[in-house]
Amino acid sequence: MANATKLCFDVTIIGGGPTGLFSAFYAGMRDMTTKIIEAAPFLGGKLPYYSEKFLYDVGGIAAITAGDLTKQLEKQASTFEPTLVYSQLIEEMERLEDGTFRLTSNTGEKHLTRSILLTIGFGTLVANKLEVPGAAQYEGHHLHYRPVNVERFRDKRVLISGGGDTAVDWALALAPLAQFIGIVHRREEFRAHEGNVALLQKQAVAVMTSSRIKEIYGQDDRIDGVKIERLDTEELTTLEVDEILVCHGSRPDLGGIKDWGLAIEQDRILVDAWMQTSVEGIFAAGDVVEYPGKLPGLIAGGFTEGPAAVNRIKAYLNPRQEVKPIWSTDHAKLSAIHSGS
Ligand SMILES: Cc1cc2nc3c(=O)[nH]c(=O)nc-3n(C[C@H](O)[C@H](O)[C@H](O)COP(=O)(O)OP(=O)(O)OC[C@H]3O[C@@H](n4cnc5c(N)ncnc54)[C@H](O)[C@@H]3O)c2cc1C
Repeated sequence: MANATKLCFDVTIIGGGPTGLFSAFYAGMRDMTTKIIEAAPFLGGKLPYYSEKFLYDVGGIAAITAGDLTKQLEKQASTFEPTLVYSQLIEEMERLEDGTFRLTSNTGEKHLTRSILLTIGFGTLVANKLEVPGAAQYEGHHLHYRPVNVERFRDKRVLISGGGDTAVDWALALAPLAQFIGIVHRREEFRAHEGNVALLQKQAVAVMTSSRIKEIYGQDDRIDGVKIERLDTEELTTLEVDEILVCHGSRPDLGGIKDWGLAIEQDRILVDAWMQTSVEGIFAAGDVVEYPGKLPGLIAGGFTEGPAAVNRIKAYLNPRQEVKPIWSTDHAKLSAIHSGS
């Protein structure tokens, strides 16, 4: 992997979901040196999040679970041994004097590439923040947006803000070990599984509905307590807490890629029929793209857009090359692999 950062790849595929994985196979079939960079520590994009569900609309496969499709995609993508990079979120892109690109990830690692294929789905999920003045000073210390080790909350006074399944699940999980657990929600009703909402009462969770956190007070990054406002009466109560967990949902975000100068509309990257973006040498495919006739949110879409992009990249890298696909049936290495010779 040490060398992988110094080598300049023909194509770097950002995003290891179904579109990225199939594109990596296809790029290998077109004899391109290929790197996949994935923000998560695993491949498959959205598929692992519904791994037990059956898909019935992948061409040529009558029924397959999303988990098994991920395995098949990984196996197919590995045919031409692309370089795989996990747990790196690509944020920055610079064009170098010789026309190649240098990508930088959130870990600071740099990647050189002659072309880029963005298969980033909807980007990454960013937590909706608690809109309370000064909240940022406690973030990452005693105010949390992501699941953290539950042991951290043992014998602590914990307040959860939110009314969906995540908020209620956290309250139930922490009730047996926290010294105090409260849940504050803007609405009168929770939007969580009703059985779990009923369990809240049995688990001695202090439930504060039609209320919100109005103020957090503490010292440096330590939280001493909050002021809770009842939204109908504007009445304020003070509550001493050590930790706050905010479960206000999340929204997809393209992150630093928004600043690359690409034409983007409503968080979708605009491409032409060959999946070329508005920046030469940068291509995109799958859920992230928009073009006339795009069928949104379909795995099958990415499976045609990926090859379209790769075939175009082939010609971009070698302008004497015609933009045309090849048949896998004519590919000697594939025939050899699958005939076992
Ligand atoms: C519950 C559910 C059921 C579905 N059922 C079906 C179905 O039956 N049939 C169907 O066709 N489709 C279905 N879909 C939709 C399908 O899952 C998507 O269309 C498909 O996953 C899109 O693939 P993709 O590779 O374009 O994007 P994704 O699968 O979203 O993969 C994008 C990848 O890029 C990574 N990434 C993002 N930003 C960066 C970055 N800056 N740096 C590095 N990596 C990055 C992400 O971590 C992710 O792994 C379903 C979706 C859901 C949620």
